[in-house]
Order: sequence, then structure tokens, then C-alpha cells
Amino acid sequence: MRSRPDAPRRVPTRSCVACRSAREQRDLVRFVRTPAGTMTLDETGRLAGRGAYLCREPGCWTLAAERGALGRALAAPVPPALREVLLAGPATMTTDRGGARGQE
Ligand SMILES: [Zn+2]
Repeated sequence: MRSRPDAPRRVPTRSCVACRSAREQRDLVRFVRTPAGTMTLDETGRLAGRGAYLCREPGCWTLAAERGALGRALAAPVPPALREVLLAGPATMTTDRGGARGQE
């Protein structure tokens, strides 16, 4: 059991489905279509299902709603409630900026 890997920090990156830019996973917001078919904002990043990511740019959220980028990425229609969340933008999320324990 090696608990202290000395390998350099490897940061997983994901692409925003709206602007396609690759970012660290922690800089993106995950949306998921659960096995039950529910599409939802996944603030924990741990829900099971097919995931898609958006960066925290309000413009990307609007794009995801209006051009259907998110629905396309998840291969399902975005439900009205989630669409409203998208149109409202990332500011509606619980602020986690304070919790970003500056590891870098
Ligand atoms: Zn983006």
C-alpha cells in the first residue's frame, strides 16, 4: 500500500461542451444524466451517469442552453428546470471559491 505517490501532480482536464476549451476538472461544472434519465447539475462531481462539463463562464452556460450544447453532449433533451439554471448562469451555484484551498 503506497500512500504517497511521488509522481508529479497530474491534473485531469475536461473540455467545456460550449467553448471546447480544456480546463482542469475542478474549474469546470459537471452536469450528469443519471442512469434513471434525470439530467442535473452535479455539484459534487460524483453522481453516476454520463457527464458533461461547462466552464464557469456565463456565456458558456447560455450557449449550452440556447444552442443545445449540453443536450447534445448528454444525448438527451435538457429539462426546463435545468435550462433555467443554465440561463441563470454559474452565479447561482453555491460559492465554492472560498473553499479552493490554494493548492498550486
Ligand atoms: Zn466554456
